[in-house]
Amino acid sequence: MVKVGVLALQGAVSEHIKMIEENGAVGVAVKRVEQLETIDGLIIPGGESTTMRRLIDNDHFFEPLKAFGEKGRPVFGTCAGMILMARSLTDQKEGHLGFINMVVERNAFGRQRESFEAHLSVMGISEYVEAVFIRAPLVQKIGEEVEVVSEYDNEIVAVRQGSFLACSFHPELTDDPRMHQLFIQMVKEYK
Ligand code: GLN
Repeated sequence: MVKVGVLALQGAVSEHIKMIEENGAVGVAVKRVEQLETIDGLIIPGGESTTMRRLIDNDHFFEPLKAFGEKGRPVFGTCAGMILMARSLTDQKEGHLGFINMVVERNAFGRQRESFEAHLSVMGISEYVEAVFIRAPLVQKIGEEVEVVSEYDNEIVAVRQGSFLACSFHPELTDDPRMHQLFIQMVKEYK
C-alpha cells in the first residue's frame, strides 16, 4: 500500500493525514529524518514558511528533504509548503528547497483578503474543487517545464513539475479529497 508522509514540524498535519487515509493510502506524521526512508511521497503542509524553515534547520531536515525530492520521490506542498518548494521568492534573496522552477510571492492577497474560499477548476479533476486560502501565496512566474494546474482570477494557484505538486490553498481544510487523490495518483505512478 502507498505510504504518504506529512512533514509534522508545524501546521495542519492531522487534516492532511485524514485526507490521505480517505484516499485509501497510509498517512504518516513525519517528525524524524529517518522516517523519510519509510514513505513513498511527502506532503509539506501550510503554516508559516519562515518558522517552518527554522524548524527544518533545527531538526537537520533540510538536506534529507532536498535529497528526498531530488531522488524523484513525489512531494506536494500546500500554502507555506508551496513557498518552501519554490526556486525563488519575491521578498527574499534565496528560496528554500527550490524543487519547482517558479517565483512565489508570499501573502499575495493582502490584508483585505486574509482568508477566503473559492471554487477552482483544476487540471485532471472534472468538477470544481473547493479551496480555502489563508494568507496565501501566488505564483508570479513559472519556467517552461512547469504546468499550470489551477488558476484563480487569472493568477496561478497550483502547479506541477514532474514529481512535484504545489498549491497556494489548503485542500485539507475542506471535505474535498480530490487534490490529495491527484497527489496519491502521482505517488502510485512513481512506485
Ligand atoms: N503566509 C504564510 C507564509 O508566508 C503561508 C500561509 C499558510 O500556509 N496558510 O508562510
